[in-house]
Amino acid sequence: MTDQYTRQSFLGAKSGELLQNATIAIVGLGGGGSHVAQQLAHIGIGRVLLFDPDSLELSNLNRLIGGTAADVGARTEKVEIARRMFVAINPAAEVHTYAVQWQLAADALREADVVISCLDSYAARQDLEVSVRRFLTPLIDIGMDVHLVNEQPHMTGQVILSVPGGPCFRCLGFLTDENLRQEAELYGAAGGRPQVVWSNGVLASVAVGLLVELLTGWQRRHFRAEYLHFDANEHVITRSPRLEYAPKHCAHFAADFVGEPVL
Ligand SMILES: [Zn+2]
Repeated sequence: MTDQYTRQSFLGAKSGELLQNATIAIVGLGGGGSHVAQQLAHIGIGRVLLFDPDSLELSNLNRLIGGTAADVGARTEKVEIARRMFVAINPAAEVHTYAVQWQLAADALREADVVISCLDSYAARQDLEVSVRRFLTPLIDIGMDVHLVNEQPHMTGQVILSVPGGPCFRCLGFLTDENLRQEAELYGAAGGRPQVVWSNGVLASVAVGLLVELLTGWQRRHFRAEYLHFDANEHVITRSPRLEYAPKHCAHFAADFVGEPVL
């Protein structure tokens, strides 16, 4: 292990090699995905696949890590901002960018050992989970939202790990017909979802923590799934009770659709 990673050598003698040899996809390089990309560069992930069709806008600057005022003027693609940041930290890394809707480059996802979903709609998450399960790849999803509770804004977020063969987003009660229907009705009416840099940073950090555990096994835990709830008003993360009540075996994906987890 080189000096660059000595402070994280407690992750295991082979951890440097495991992280270096991993291919990680990030789908969505906005407020959440840009934090994830930055951290993957620092921990020494050797190969990343970045998917986002959008360019930087002024309204993104409150939260997009690596984005600058000059990028707003130049309308720099979000994947390019992430690529630039990644190779500045880790010049040896291999970075592939896809500045299109991920569905148009879905075959590239096949190469990922783990996919990190930083999308902002339930419908998009549903589509991504279907694709990623087909490739037998673990999926880590992060997201935040703001609801009014007694007329006060309440920020919440979640980090969910969906592993082929284990409970899926529907088993975990995260995706329901009702929330997909509500979202479809509201589509286009609400503008962009509220997003802030500090809670995105918490969610991204937890997702990267889960990823490092999956790749290195440093805590020797086995995951069927994970569902962590973030109360961003109280600054508290708890394990969702939905995890305990999820069915042991997912009935939403046919047995021949899934196989054993690859990790
Ligand atoms: Zn299921």
